[in-house]
Amino acid sequence: MDIKYKTAEEIESIRVSSLLVSETLAHVAQFIKPGVTTLELDKSAEDFIKSKNAIAAFKGFKGFPGTLCISVNAEVVHGIPTKRVVRDGDVLSVDCGVIQNGWYGDSAYTFGVGQIDQSDIQLLQVTQQCLMQGIAKVKVGNRMGDVSSAIQEYAELHKMGVVRELIGHGIGRNLHEKPDVPNYGSRGQGINLKAGLVIAIEPMINKGKRGIKFHDDGWTVTTIDMKNSAHFEHTVAVTQNGYDVLSSFEPIQSAIEKNINIYNINV
Ligand code: MG
Ligand code: MG
Repeated sequence: MDIKYKTAEEIESIRVSSLLVSETLAHVAQFIKPGVTTLELDKSAEDFIKSKNAIAAFKGFKGFPGTLCISVNAEVVHGIPTKRVVRDGDVLSVDCGVIQNGWYGDSAYTFGVGQIDQSDIQLLQVTQQCLMQGIAKVKVGNRMGDVSSAIQEYAELHKMGVVRELIGHGIGRNLHEKPDVPNYGSRGQGINLKAGLVIAIEPMINKGKRGIKFHDDGWTVTTIDMKNSAHFEHTVAVTQNGYDVLSSFEPIQSAIEKNINIYNINV
């Protein structure tokens, strides 16, 4: 499958879907507190997406049972919502995708529940910053390796591990399209970034070593050293002028500021 470049109009459709993902993550953030189960958080997302007449993109995708991927602590991504109870000090990565009018949006945010460790505060800040460093390299004339290496260099500068086995992706009429968007690479290498390319950039960063383990449930991925991992993701379009972030952390940030049970990493 070749890369499908999008028209300006198509990018606006992907923005609508991506912003619904952001609103969904903000909605879920209201309910994050010690004692809630990841399944309850999942249900809140499912109800919200239905109320907007959209489709939860992950539910049923290759058999995934949830609306959200909720990955706790040493879980990297693809955590299945269950009756697991969220605790004070947990690091909760929440990934969401929706389909609206046939277009996908995909975004993820990692929340610190209550009082988290200093090292986890740094993990969350560094991972969010890795995403921003990658996005800053998105412009016509740059290569994918410029994005990838910016993410890798920022993480490694802070002595954190960059997951290799799971990467970002093109997005549009499908959740996962060409091209691959690795979180590691070399400057000046990889495909040319052209206007109309829409990609999900999603660094998965480990506090310890980069190695991960795939579990027998077919989904859950954890770090091998069982140290915590974080994940931030935006859907981003390449434009003539640089980048256009189609999802937004603003509604999530507003929700965090109203919820004393979430540690605000952006203070
Ligand atoms: Mg995602
Ligand atoms: Mg993604």
